[in-house]
Amino acid sequence: MRQTKIVLSDKEIPTKWYNIMADMPNKPKPPLHPGTKQPVGPDDLKPIFPMDLILQEVSTERWVPIPEEVLDIYTLWRPSPLFRAHMLEKALGTPAKIYYKYEGVSPAGSHKPNTAIPQAYYNKKAGMKRIATETGAGQWGSSMALAGTYFGLDVTVYMVKVSFGQKPYRRLMMETWGATVHASPSKLTNAGRKILELDPDNSGSLGIAISEAVEDAATHNDTNYALGSVLNHVCLHQTVIGLEAKKQLEIAGDYPDVVIACCGGGSNFAGLAFPFLHDKINGKQLRAIAVEPASCPTLTKGEFTYDFGDVAGMTPLINMYTLGHDFMPSGIHAGGLRYHGDSALVSQLYHDKIIEARAYPQLPVFQAAMQFAKTEGIIPAPESSHAIKCAIDEAMKAKEEGKQRTILFNLSGHGHFDMQAYGDFLAGKLIDHEHPESDIKKSLDRLHAMLK
Ligand SMILES: *Cc1c(COP(=O)(O)O)cnc(C)c1O
Repeated sequence: MRQTKIVLSDKEIPTKWYNIMADMPNKPKPPLHPGTKQPVGPDDLKPIFPMDLILQEVSTERWVPIPEEVLDIYTLWRPSPLFRAHMLEKALGTPAKIYYKYEGVSPAGSHKPNTAIPQAYYNKKAGMKRIATETGAGQWGSSMALAGTYFGLDVTVYMVKVSFGQKPYRRLMMETWGATVHASPSKLTNAGRKILELDPDNSGSLGIAISEAVEDAATHNDTNYALGSVLNHVCLHQTVIGLEAKKQLEIAGDYPDVVIACCGGGSNFAGLAFPFLHDKINGKQLRAIAVEPASCPTLTKGEFTYDFGDVAGMTPLINMYTLGHDFMPSGIHAGGLRYHGDSALVSQLYHDKIIEARAYPQLPVFQAAMQFAKTEGIIPAPESSHAIKCAIDEAMKAKEEGKQRTILFNLSGHGHFDMQAYGDFLAGKLIDHEHPESDIKKSLDRLHAMLK
């Protein structure tokens, strides 16, 4: 029988996360305080994060042990399977071998619980009773709600108001796991009240929801804040993906020529790619491609500079690729990829040309998703479908060149809660938005004026 699914036993789960800070030729510049513009110290972050996570955020240790309590939960669905996409390869008629790591097997259906679980654990250990967080379409909020149930933490989620109304199933998932969900902007915070006073019908944004969750955490002693992407400790936790994939490919007797993942804030890309980049930094030949939507092209069209994480300018400034913190991407269906910035680690690696980036419009991405669903069977999340599109392109290039090539991509989640997007695609209602060059220039000009 041909080898299609490569699984590891519970005992083979990685027991340490990989920290790429130890090996980067250039480390990211430090985050700056939004008021003083001086590097932030641990004390600045103490009101909203537990010390264990603050230390991981700045750690340069190569290997960070995964706590037993976290491994106990991870093993409920990890190690996740690695598949060889035989049926997709056949449909493409490519000599390339395509492998994908499937993170949709977690209870929340994506890679996000890989960091939600340890974040809940460290907060519980620090004596916290509650976590406040934000969510756009609901993927991060549901992962945090899940983690809250495992560790007995209350979870309050500020959900962007337009999604709160339009995407009830992720909200109901969060409530099923015991979380309290508020439509944002809400009347519960100063940030929310201020916006509602000026604009009672404001439909919300991720940046506003972040401001509300941070304020909630900063003003309650028993409450901390949690973020689902971008930060160094989030990327660190996600490296279980790549560490497992390496072992699985070894079993298959293979090693990738190219590693691919979609990129919103950069965490699932970091998770898959960083353990392989460790080899690349040590001389191995390998390409890594971060794939983003053409309507929010942070790496491919953004600027490498300090910017805020939120719209209100309350979070620390991070040195990253950014489109400007008030850039408003068009309403594409890959909600998880609509962030103006990117992880400082991913940004620095791109700046140093250790990784590549590519942007695709949503129509070809949905065509790739359809082809994947019809061959491999899994209905992919719209976010993950960006990686599928890139993997297909790489496989077709191998075919044209008549070359063998081993391709590995991350299937970061399933699309079971995104069927409306598939419905719109099938009905021919999806459109490709114009390239937002002039909007990007405007928001970057505003950022420059603000930082002067
Ligand atoms: C949130 C999300 C992403 C994007 O976030 P990253 O931090 O860039 O990984 C990608 N895929 C899925 C399924 C998501 O839920």
